[in-house]
Amino acid sequence: MSSFASLKLHPTLLQAVHELGWPKPTPIQADAIPPALEGKDLLACASTGSGKTAAFLLPILHQLMSTPRGQTKVLVLTPTRELAAQILEDLNDLAVHTPITGAAIIGGVRMGPQEHAFRSGATVLVATPGRLLDHFQHPYAKLPHLEYLVLDEADRMLDMGFLPDIRKVLRHLPTKRQTLFFSATMPDPIVTLSREMLKQPVTLNLERKAAPAKGITQAVYPVSQELKASLLLHLLNKGEMAEALVFTRTKHRTNRLAEFLEKSGVPVARIHGNRSQGQRTDALDGFREGRYRVLAATDIVARGIDVTALGHVVNFDVPAMPEDYIHRVGRTARAEATGDAFTFVCPEEEADLRAIEKAIGRRLPRITVPDFDYKAKPVQRFEVPIAERIAAIRARKAEERARAKAKLERKAQLASEEADRRTRKDAERPARSPHAGRPGPSGGGQQGGSRPAGSGGGRPGRGRRRGPRRGPGGGPRPQ
Ligand code: AMP
Repeated sequence: MSSFASLKLHPTLLQAVHELGWPKPTPIQADAIPPALEGKDLLACASTGSGKTAAFLLPILHQLMSTPRGQTKVLVLTPTRELAAQILEDLNDLAVHTPITGAAIIGGVRMGPQEHAFRSGATVLVATPGRLLDHFQHPYAKLPHLEYLVLDEADRMLDMGFLPDIRKVLRHLPTKRQTLFFSATMPDPIVTLSREMLKQPVTLNLERKAAPAKGITQAVYPVSQELKASLLLHLLNKGEMAEALVFTRTKHRTNRLAEFLEKSGVPVARIHGNRSQGQRTDALDGFREGRYRVLAATDIVARGIDVTALGHVVNFDVPAMPEDYIHRVGRTARAEATGDAFTFVCPEEEADLRAIEKAIGRRLPRITVPDFDYKAKPVQRFEVPIAERIAAIRARKAEERARAKAKLERKAQLASEEADRRTRKDAERPARSPHAGRPGPSGGGQQGGSRPAGSGGGRPGRGRRRGPRRGPGGGPRPQ
């Protein structure tokens, strides 16, 4: 199939594709669109960068052309917020000349506007499973008109532990629907899930071995663990790369790398699981706009972001799973673009690198940077060992607890002082009464005489109850 026109898509969709400047369908689009247009279920092996988003959106949008407004017809399940935002952006681009509306149902932002999307019946909901289940707790979140379900990056959802959530989501959906199932790899649990969800699916590209998109220059930089940060700085300073998306293994390493680069004068943003939605958005926008030269990130965003003009991906740490390598590197070569993917490998990571080379079917070239001092002493310790970090957290917590305890004790002391003060005041009150004949507490047994005449109350001696009870001589009075 060589043109979008030959796919017989609705003219408004062809116009949108034309405006996006897409010259022809990508292979997955050419394969997936015809059977999807016929209403068939799909099981497709496709990774980020292949054009898979339009491969499921275009046939669905085509079928929705005459759909009434105000009913949710499509649910796209996707693993990350960033990916959801990306899909919604693609939807808005492709549906620009149609009345079709879309909304993202994702964590990290307020539920209110998303509730509105349910109530008003946005045509397409693009959701992460956890937040969707939160909404399903409420009566407004019903999808009786749903006709299309897309599972995007199913294997990544498996990695992120979403499989039970997906099964729960399925219980809320009509069983009569068209389901399009996309996954970059097909591990056993994904095959099982696809069997549960799909009816006589057309399968696409299942035998194809996952391989990074063409056009990427991949290279490996052997370097000791301690010098990775300095090597990255060196490559940035030398102008080897103008900007880079840098993946590290942990949030801590992302933070440490960002601190190091910042101190070295490189504008850097970071993005990982502990960052708020606002911080993530700022990081991504800032990187796209060129405010940050480096975006340091953990795996979580590897598949979720689209940085179209990006030239360089740096694997600061070798990904433990070959699939992760393929997905990450896929960031740099979207559609026809080209990019570089550098992987820093320390001796302990050689085994993981060999697994990647096996998966992609070739050995990657090793590069030694001629003017980098591989024997230099690291300027600072890059990673604080976990035991030390835990000890620091414990010490901080202990200090916080001690402070809270001292505060409580001080409060209790103040309360007790206040109680004493009140007691004393009460004890003094009869003496200060304008009707009192003589000082109260010292008056001891004479209190009865202080009762003013005509103060009411038939019971003689009632006046004694005024003021603290005291026995003769001012001591506590026995009851
Ligand atoms: P994805 O859908 O995540 O695989 O991303 C593919 C990227 O390529 C996105 O940035 C799309 O905008 C772009 N793209 C999708 N289809 C085409 C096409 N037929 N020609 C050129 N670019 C495309």
